[in-house]
Amino acid sequence: MWIQKVRLKALAWVAAIALAAVGAISIFAIPAIPVLGVAVAVVAVALNQLGHRLTQPTCYGCGSNLTGQTPGQYGIVCRGCGIINHVDPRRLAGAPKSDHAGPPEGPVST
Ligand SMILES: [Zn+2]
Repeated sequence: MWIQKVRLKALAWVAAIALAAVGAISIFAIPAIPVLGVAVAVVAVALNQLGHRLTQPTCYGCGSNLTGQTPGQYGIVCRGCGIINHVDPRRLAGAPKSDHAGPPEGPVST
């Protein structure tokens, strides 16, 4: 599924940045506190970039955009892969864009 690829990519970024920070600290003998600060900032930016597509109504199965589709009783059926997605109706109505970078709501499993 598309959302699992996004999760795996996020995990890979976090692991790579942590390894790079540990490597920089141990090889170049750089003080740890500034390197950790930079590493945390880079992780935050990387995860924000990965989650940017999730701010729009997105199919969790294939990643296609669900904007403009009418939700049924159980959610929106993706035209591409057929997965039923639970999407916040406020986002479907073209809610004003917010700048919050928090994690989006996940699909509701019943
Ligand atoms: Zn889909």
